[in-house]
Amino acid sequence: MTTSAPSPEAEKDPIGHPFRTLQELLDHVSGKNLPPLTPEESLLADRTPFPFLSIVGQREMKLALLLGVINPHIGGILLIGTRGTAKTTAVRALLDLLPATRRSLCVYGCTEEEVEHGGMDAVCPACAKKYGEGRPLTARDRVRLVELPLNATLDDVVGSVDRREGLHERMRVRRGLLAQADRNLLYIDEINLLPNEIVDAILDAAAQGVYTVRRGTFSATYHTRFTLIGSMNPEEGRLRPQILDRFGLRVLVRGLQNAAERLEAYRRVRAYRESPHAFLRQYAADLAAAAAEVQAARDRLPQVTLPDDLATEAIARTQEMGIDSLRAEIAWFEAARAYAAADARTEVTAADLQVVAPMALRLRRSAFMDDYFTARRDEEETIQQLLADLK
Ligand SMILES: [Zn+2]
Repeated sequence: MTTSAPSPEAEKDPIGHPFRTLQELLDHVSGKNLPPLTPEESLLADRTPFPFLSIVGQREMKLALLLGVINPHIGGILLIGTRGTAKTTAVRALLDLLPATRRSLCVYGCTEEEVEHGGMDAVCPACAKKYGEGRPLTARDRVRLVELPLNATLDDVVGSVDRREGLHERMRVRRGLLAQADRNLLYIDEINLLPNEIVDAILDAAAQGVYTVRRGTFSATYHTRFTLIGSMNPEEGRLRPQILDRFGLRVLVRGLQNAAERLEAYRRVRAYRESPHAFLRQYAADLAAAAAEVQAARDRLPQVTLPDDLATEAIARTQEMGIDSLRAEIAWFEAARAYAAADARTEVTAADLQVVAPMALRLRRSAFMDDYFTARRDEEETIQQLLADLK
């Protein structure tokens, strides 16, 4: 990549904006006017994701994704929308903002935690030796985005067992995508098109935080603590209601409605395609600030509390709404805690609950999918009626 002197406009907008919160930063960048681009370096760019902060509009989708990164206990995020609404772009763009975690240095995924809970036999012989010598089994690394390929088999997802005799138990499990997703984000595009057995395995693993592979008398359990992000196009098939219920936050992603926003979105996509590195440079300072905010919010989260009286009142409201699922409250409260953490506070307020309520509570009681398909069918009929006398 070539480098060039920053444009005067870029210098006026340097690193270190005094943003108090992640929300302020999001608002600032959403309304930001970019300096003109110089189309120099171009098409040789590596696969660099479109910057998260440069996605025009779609505030609720961006907020839901950030809350999911800050607090994995929200229980997954489902993005519902037709094609071309930047769902996959937004998920991939999270790469720039992902916080730090601890990661195993071993291909079998051994960690210190497993030795502490299960003894030396819980890890592979090489790691047992390392542990005995006081060497680390894990290192600090960033949270990763693991994408489920569309043609993945059940074995690819849950892992399989190597039947060779004499192998240490730890080494007999071929780790699947679920094991790789531990402490990461797992993204499933078009989740409504996946075979049921795969969806069920993933949702069980996400809910339990562990998964057990069984083959004959052999079984092995591994950690699967990941934030699940699913996307679906409701025009291409429904999602079973029990699956819908397993997602903590649900975002209805619509295309941009405002002409000025659509023009700005077009302008940014074009600028990015013509000169990805130059485009990314314009966001570098804001992305670094946002990544630091996400990390700070994640570090603050354990201290964030929800007062009992507020929680009691909120539970009464969900009952009034006719929502039975306990998952609704868990998602709602955990999202509100993440929102308070992102706002640099350690106590949830009623306002926090109000902001995140639609994402957590929608589609819990209504037969949204049925309504959606009924509306589509009605539309088809209307079109046919309007065309009936066409000669
Ligand atoms: Zn190992």
